[in-house]
Amino acid sequence: MSLYTAICSRFLFPLHERIKGHASLALRVRLEESQWWSAEQLADQRDRRLREFLVDIGQRVPYYREIFRQRGFDPQSLRSSDALTALPLLDKPDIRANVERLKADGHGPLTRYNTGGSSGEPLIFFMGKGRKSHDVAAKWRATRWWDVDIGDRELVVWGSPVELGAQDRIRRLRDGLMRSHLLPAFEMSPANLDRFVATIRATRPAMLFGYPSSLSLIAMHAREKKVDMSSLGIKVAFVTSEKLYDEQRAVISEVFGCPVANGYGARDAGFIAHECPSGSLHISAEDIIVETVRPDGTRSARGEAGEIVVTHLGTADFPFVRYRTGDVGIVGDRPCPCGRGLPVLEEVQGRTTDFVVAQDGTVMHGLALIYTVRDLPGVERFRIEQISIDQTVVKLVTGPAFDPAGEERIIRDFKGRLGARVDVRVERVAEIANESSGKFRYVISRVKAGMPVQEASRA
Ligand SMILES: [Zn+2]
Repeated sequence: MSLYTAICSRFLFPLHERIKGHASLALRVRLEESQWWSAEQLADQRDRRLREFLVDIGQRVPYYREIFRQRGFDPQSLRSSDALTALPLLDKPDIRANVERLKADGHGPLTRYNTGGSSGEPLIFFMGKGRKSHDVAAKWRATRWWDVDIGDRELVVWGSPVELGAQDRIRRLRDGLMRSHLLPAFEMSPANLDRFVATIRATRPAMLFGYPSSLSLIAMHAREKKVDMSSLGIKVAFVTSEKLYDEQRAVISEVFGCPVANGYGARDAGFIAHECPSGSLHISAEDIIVETVRPDGTRSARGEAGEIVVTHLGTADFPFVRYRTGDVGIVGDRPCPCGRGLPVLEEVQGRTTDFVVAQDGTVMHGLALIYTVRDLPGVERFRIEQISIDQTVVKLVTGPAFDPAGEERIIRDFKGRLGARVDVRVERVAEIANESSGKFRYVISRVKAGMPVQEASRA
């Protein structure tokens, strides 16, 4: 660790957090101990904290006071987190309809957040300082798993309007002090990609942070232009907010000469899980309880995929209890070779909107269609839009290597998977824009399957 990084990590950043009223440093130190606890010890602490949390919100939060009363739910008697199943799931419409009643009596300062861009279903919710401290501490801990720390040179490729809107002077000053440099990821045009590659070479960051889609685009661009990026001393590429595909991981890792560390979380749901150097997505289990549920709301069986539902124990001022993330995943049950007792998310398959529905009702991951399109030579960018159960549109940005016969191949293949009577259209377009958040989605389905279709802004 360089002297400057040490000063940032031990002094400047903790000071910044203290000024904001966050207890992140003390929390991080605690989390760095508890990550090595046994699964049993972690579960004991979780059950105790869950009980305290539910007792607290049962007294102070009007929404939960009412639910507990109606259901005769006594949080004092809670012995394990399985008791959560007695409580309802919480989705965005619930929060929207009860935003005032979700605020705890006598709550501390709350910050208002608004997620959901042009295509998303907007959600306004509030965050107290306790929750922010927990999310910062969990993220900070995961950063340090990778032999980097706050204060190491960082290059952030991001496009969230929230982040950019907040680029005020104080924030810029902070980012400057923490040596964090932002590249806006709205427009990944060739000219911008050239600029991004040049900036990374000039700044020689220790870590990259961004969407898998943006970092892999930059990597592919550098490879195509034969620009060496592998000897810049980049130690790790953190990716988050989108599903990370294997080939994205491969190209990022190869071009930048570093491992890729996947993170899973969202502004609304919290910092849920992060990859360790042994390759497991460890759940921030000290604060976040993850369950997976079936479309009917019952809990998935062990090893069965289900919608990820989180209870965040740091949210007493504006509780998130059994909050539906709209993501589908599997909770693992094997310990990780790294020795951390934190439970593992075996798989995050993507959002429920990443799934498409065949005419016979079969729900499949969009990956089944993505492979067909991606493997065609000359396809530079694409988006698959399932408009209805009977109609799917494939938008393509193609280069000189594209063979028009590829269009026939897409149509044939898609009909094979979605149904022979489905109207499959291929449109060649000049460009396909990122979402307003800067994220890129390969598949968008407007068909509501048996699974709940939700839009959510990851970030
Ligand atoms: Zn591990």
